[in-house]
Amino acid sequence: MSDIAVPESHPRYESLLTRHRIEAGVEKGITSQQGLIAQGRGEAFDYLLGERTIESADVAARVAAAHLLLAEHPVLSVNGNVAALCPGELVELADVVGADLEVNLFNRTDERMRAIVDHLREHGATDVRGLTADGRIPGIDHERAKVDAEGIGAADVVLVPLEDGDRAEALGAMGTVELVVDLNPLSRSAQVATVPIVDNVIRAVPNVTRHARDLTDASEADLRAIVEAFDAEATLDAAERAIRDGTEREA
Ligand code: ATP
Ligand code: MG
Repeated sequence: MSDIAVPESHPRYESLLTRHRIEAGVEKGITSQQGLIAQGRGEAFDYLLGERTIESADVAARVAAAHLLLAEHPVLSVNGNVAALCPGELVELADVVGADLEVNLFNRTDERMRAIVDHLREHGATDVRGLTADGRIPGIDHERAKVDAEGIGAADVVLVPLEDGDRAEALGAMGTVELVVDLNPLSRSAQVATVPIVDNVIRAVPNVTRHARDLTDASEADLRAIVEAFDAEATLDAAERAIRDGTEREA
């Protein structure tokens, strides 16, 4: 089933491609069955957003890029959905901003951890963290708290696409700057993020990379100014509004 070609002329080409990738991810042992449900929820919001990157999400992507460039130890967290949807794009972003990749699963099994690490390697990653889970995020139950002590456990900035709300909150409580990609602006993950990017990961990750490339020569002061000017609440409001009226408040 996973080798059915999606005709590019189809009006829902991107959406079909996305489904196809998630389906292939499940077949490959990368994405969990729960991941299929999460995808469905995301798609509904993407439909309402017009399946495009809204202006406020583009601003947030630029701010996320500035955070990643300023970070001493940035980490990109990878779960089963993201690994299936945009593995090469994550590897590229990690290269551009000098971040580590860490597999970090809500439903953690050794088999799935390994499958995702292998999959990222097939897409050009050299070092992938996560198999060493010797750290804990305080405040959440054992299995779900596991992280690499020298990866997410020691990171100052973490990009967590599609993170679970509880873990996003606990990470934030550790003082970690959290860059969250989530299509639902009402999701707790988006609500607790330092920088919520309300966009499909398929568009958001390459967009953050594009901004990071654009900002590579920016001074530290300029990057700090970008970060400080950001208003997370206004960003979430703009996304909610885009969903409600199909419009977006001008900045
Ligand atoms: P809450 O945060 O309100 O407790 P939840 O996080 O438990 O909700 P889930 O269905 O478990 O809800 O999480 C999936 C989240 O990931 C949803 O918020 C959904 O919008 C988002 N999502 C799914 N697919 C994508 C995608 N391709 N790009 C961005 N976000 C996505
Ligand atoms: Mg959530």
